[in-house]
Amino acid sequence: MKTKTCATCKTDHDVMYRVQIRKGKIWIFVCEACCRKHQRGDYYRYGGTWKGSRH
Ligand SMILES: [Zn+2]
Repeated sequence: MKTKTCATCKTDHDVMYRVQIRKGKIWIFVCEACCRKHQRGDYYRYGGTWKGSRH
């Protein structure tokens, strides 16, 4: 199973959310908990879900 490191809490997860949280065009991967946190931000944009596990 593959994992990615969350850009804001630095822990590894196998399901990540591609989001923008700052002004500009920089996409980062964050975990579900951080995704919810960032949803309140002014620049939040959702760009898809990444899954490290294959079925
Ligand atoms: Zn996180």
